[in-house]
Amino acid sequence: GPAVAFAGVTKAYAGGTIAVDGVSVEIAGGSFVALVGSSGSGKSTLLKMINRLIAPSAGEVRIGGVGVGDEPAHVLRRRIGYVFQNIGLFPHMSVAENIAIGLRLAGERANAERVAELLDLVELPREFAMRRPDALSGGQRQRVGVARALATAPGLLLLDEPFGALDPVTRDQLGTAIRQLHDRLGLTTIMVTHDMAEALILADRVLVMDAGRIVADATPKALLAGE
Ligand code: ADP
Ligand code: ADP
Repeated sequence: GPAVAFAGVTKAYAGGTIAVDGVSVEIAGGSFVALVGSSGSGKSTLLKMINRLIAPSAGEVRIGGVGVGDEPAHVLRRRIGYVFQNIGLFPHMSVAENIAIGLRLAGERANAERVAELLDLVELPREFAMRRPDALSGGQRQRVGVARALATAPGLLLLDEPFGALDPVTRDQLGTAIRQLHDRLGLTTIMVTHDMAEALILADRVLVMDAGRIVADATPKALLAGE
């Protein structure tokens, strides 16, 4: 997967909140980075600037050396999978249609075979394709969200608090599944979480945010050793 670089990135919202304050950081291709910090520390804002859901007030975000503003947003987003905090499945559509949206938004044709492959990838039974989201458990719904994010075979996967509403056992299972997908597909993965334990278990590198800045940047091993 591609490397992501932030250079002097600041985001000031209308009203004056400086959500991200002069962040410069490079994330190696193929790594699994957890972005940890308390609510309001700027994690989501930082993540959303990678796929241009939010534009920086200053500085630049680059993916594989290319500025994210240098190509049309739909082209950029074809190369980036994004898993939303609240999943965001459409309740009136089947699982297959929800996954197919990931393809259509990126300008690609959806087909049943690709949907079946994506269900295999996230370890859901192919029969689930015809179900509505409300006939799935929370963890299964989130797997559909991951399948949709991976529909265009992106090299970069962004996850914003993907385990938010799940019970601890389901969180562990989904965390393991996401780590395995990262390893198997060679994805560059950036996951926002407020749960340090989860970050330490899943990530290769932990970035801690506070008041819009990165205040710690270390491997789980170094953090656990208190270095
Ligand atoms: P986190 O993901 O760590 O909870 P956010 O990036 O969501 O943090 O928010 C960082 C700060 O920016 C917070 O103070 C939040 O209230 C503020 N903020 C987030 N989104 C907006 C917005 N659309 N307009 C104004 N302020 C915002
Ligand atoms: P498009 O103009 O291709 O339709 P959008 O309307 O989705 O794309 O644009 C989203 C925002 O991303 C725009 O406000 C744009 O200014 C902003 N943007 C431009 N350059 C960058 C950059 N280097 N990094 C992040 N966001 C950028």
